[in-house]
Amino acid sequence: MEIKRGIAVSPGVVPGPALVLGTEDFRIPRRFVSVNAVDVEVARFRSAIDAVCNEISENERLASERLGAQYGAIFTAHLNLARDHKLREEIEELIRERTYSPEFASSRVLRRYAKLFQNLGNQYMAERAVDIFDLEKRLLRHLLGTEREELAHITEPVIVLATNLTPSETASLNPEFVLGFATEVGGHTSHTAILAGALEIPAVVGIGPFLSDVSGGDTIIIDGNHGEVIIDPDEPTLKRYRVTRDRIKTANQKLELLGDLESKTADGVPIKLFGNIEFPEEVDHCIKRGAEGVGLYRTEFLYLKDDREPSEEDHFNAYRRVVDPIPTLPVVIRTLDLGAEKFPHSLEDLAEVSPNPVLGLRSVRFTLRNLGLFKTQLRAILRAAVYGDIRIMFPLVTSVLELRQAKMILGDVMEDLEEEGIPFCRDIQVGMMVEVPSAALLADRFAEEVDFFSIGTNDLIQYTLAVDRANPTVADLYSAADPSILRLIRMVVAAAAKKDTPVVVCGQMSGDPLFTSVLIGMGIRELSATPFSLPIIKQVIRNITIPQAEEIAAHADTLDVARDVENYLRGELKKISPDEFS
Ligand code: PEP
Ligand code: MG
Repeated sequence: MEIKRGIAVSPGVVPGPALVLGTEDFRIPRRFVSVNAVDVEVARFRSAIDAVCNEISENERLASERLGAQYGAIFTAHLNLARDHKLREEIEELIRERTYSPEFASSRVLRRYAKLFQNLGNQYMAERAVDIFDLEKRLLRHLLGTEREELAHITEPVIVLATNLTPSETASLNPEFVLGFATEVGGHTSHTAILAGALEIPAVVGIGPFLSDVSGGDTIIIDGNHGEVIIDPDEPTLKRYRVTRDRIKTANQKLELLGDLESKTADGVPIKLFGNIEFPEEVDHCIKRGAEGVGLYRTEFLYLKDDREPSEEDHFNAYRRVVDPIPTLPVVIRTLDLGAEKFPHSLEDLAEVSPNPVLGLRSVRFTLRNLGLFKTQLRAILRAAVYGDIRIMFPLVTSVLELRQAKMILGDVMEDLEEEGIPFCRDIQVGMMVEVPSAALLADRFAEEVDFFSIGTNDLIQYTLAVDRANPTVADLYSAADPSILRLIRMVVAAAAKKDTPVVVCGQMSGDPLFTSVLIGMGIRELSATPFSLPIIKQVIRNITIPQAEEIAAHADTLDVARDVENYLRGELKKISPDEFS
């Protein structure tokens, strides 16, 4: 049994068989074979490894012929490895004596060798591990034949383990079969992490290299509460985690009963709770968790889930799917926040190649340079707004000029619809995300021009602290508790108050109960978060009074260091909701 630690990004505890995604996404379907089938399975292994040897010999010949003997020699090393008797014997022994399937036995043995190479402390040797992975891949390809795994077509329950999952890949995971996932890279608020929360799949990211320690089919436990991945747990550990899983389930069921209770502080001040969604179906999660509407709909996932570019009708239908069940509640549709790591296949020609994509052509900057795509979406939003209380929000607004440009395009689109005689909502509310420091610093100017602000702490932290939100190497420097972040939020609240502009907080910070009191104490009265987190947030809200929250915010304001703020808030949270947090 081995325990790996990473960053907990989506809560829940789940055991299951590993599906290790290498670059070729192989899946090992069976770990064991029946005793009677052992001879057949050994023969299958032999024929696969012989086929691999032939394939490598052919590559060796071709490379030597076309490029010269020194290139052919690259394959000689692979061939020696594949022909190695000891290696074959070890794999066959596992098939015969432990009734492992040839796939599982091969992966197990080869990954153990790869790890030995990686640990020799010598760069040259460590790089040889790549040759071993290559051999594993070839062997699996022969053993599995056409059974390549498509992430979107998994049909049995698995725990997905990968170096990285892009937001598009994560969007295509089916929560019915993907019990949990863990990745080597990723940070607290990477979009992959956010999606895991949306899909309610327990997840741990930013573990660092660990895939060579796992074989497909190994039993894995994902502990999304503590950021742990347990490989090959022993029986008592498995049992303990099953008990924890059931306990969490009961606690969540209890919390869900809060869905119908009002969201107001112990002294009666209402705090509005909205849901963040990425997919239209999530509106049901919002309703179930008692949200008072959708505070953030990340529409770019319409692009990321599919390989083709959505049409105006696709947009329109998705928005109707969200608004129709809740026609009287607000639904804030954020215009496309594409760019950086959120880039769909369908728009690859428009993608910018940049060493710093997070500072490049993303979000509203991207849509302002791709007006066709922007207008298509705006038309659909305006049309859908006839059916409910839809509001528009522009992401990553950095300057007043940019905001004015976006609003101007919106005006143009209204004129087009008018001319075409298509029904739309003219008096739609228009808001903006405050997620770059410039927007927070100029909040008083922006407040003159928008109907509402939504503070996106995920990016605000990234851009204020100069910490990549998806990079595990600097994850310890990424903190919502940093005094600079609290100060920026206070500034926005103060500037907005002068104009009576509503302010909602919609980054991951708003779904973390640690920050509920300090946000309320700073004057925030609206929060939008992953639907799953709403019940626990409501619980905290119902346990505090406004003076109490203000006192907490005032004390947090005296602290200089994020860690001290976090520790202080942790202590206060235990006092506010002892049942949940002691
Ligand atoms: C944010 O940046 O806080 C936010 C809500 O937007 P996203 O996470 O989609 O960048
Ligand atoms: Mg953002």
